[in-house]
Amino acid sequence: MDISVIVPLYNESESLPELEAWIDRVMKENGFSYEIIFINDGSTDSSWKTIEDLAKRNPAVKGVSFRRNYGKSPALNTGFMRAQGDVVITMDADLQDSPDEIPELYRMIKSEGYDLVSGWKQKRYDPLSKTIPTKLFNATARKVSGIKNLHDFNCGLKAYRSDVVKHIEVYGDMHRYIPYLAKNAGFTRIGEKVVHHQARKYGKTKFGLDRFVNGYLDLMTLWFTSKFGKKPMHFFGLMGSLMFILGFISLVIVGALKLYNMHAGNHYILVTDSPYFFIALTLMILGTQLFLAGFIGELVARNSASRNNYEIDRELNTNG
Ligand code: UDP
Ligand code: MG
Repeated sequence: MDISVIVPLYNESESLPELEAWIDRVMKENGFSYEIIFINDGSTDSSWKTIEDLAKRNPAVKGVSFRRNYGKSPALNTGFMRAQGDVVITMDADLQDSPDEIPELYRMIKSEGYDLVSGWKQKRYDPLSKTIPTKLFNATARKVSGIKNLHDFNCGLKAYRSDVVKHIEVYGDMHRYIPYLAKNAGFTRIGEKVVHHQARKYGKTKFGLDRFVNGYLDLMTLWFTSKFGKKPMHFFGLMGSLMFILGFISLVIVGALKLYNMHAGNHYILVTDSPYFFIALTLMILGTQLFLAGFIGELVARNSASRNNYEIDRELNTNG
């Protein structure tokens, strides 16, 4: 099969028939064999009924329905596990992404050798309250992830080589950072294509402004786990040692000053009367705590079932 289209949806009943007809038309015009996997993320409207009706008319329509609303990432992940196409396309259900982009995305994966191509909504039809924070968000994500050529990490319209979706796991709210997940899994040929974007036709957006707070927190988590997830001591140990040493040196200075002044017959104050004593003490305690956190992190990492999970790409003349 050429293409799997994965559509996560939450209360998007009105959009679905239009979306399905549009995708079907594009696929037929270009002679692609395809499937559409609708992931109903616990909708409370008639979305699932609509999907059932669509599937009766079009055998390419497949569906999965969650018992309750879990979020876009679990929906995408479920679709990824079931996808059978050589190229996997994800798109939002709200008709903001255009299925007309599919043939070009497919070509970029197939002929230009990209692992992942992300859409870029260069001209967006969203309220300003969303577009401005989005710019900031993308700038940070570029910096932290080191994927410098992406303008729009969170674009719902993306295309993947099937290998990629089988080797990444999208959980929590990590759908915002799929290119980063892919990069961490060793898929580094990441491209971008400018895509058309439309205002939402039916229903309303499912994400509020908290997306930006959570988005930043998730980015920090990803940065930390990708860098230190398997060796937490390298982070905590360094921080802890620095703090401890700083505190220790300060303490020695405070003590030495007192002794010196005492012997020289100068006016001197007790060590405990100096504010620096307490700062030094705090630093040493925090340093020790961080160091211990590092040890605990190492114990957790060593027990993790995935501590030695790595993907082998090729092998030559081994017995592996
Ligand atoms: N979505 C989902 N589960 C959720 C929230 C959203 O499957 O808990 C789907 C939603 O139905 C849509 C896509 O994710 O197909 C993108 O959501 P939305 O259009 O609300 O986001 P925006 O375009 O405002 O970023
Ligand atoms: Mg939308």
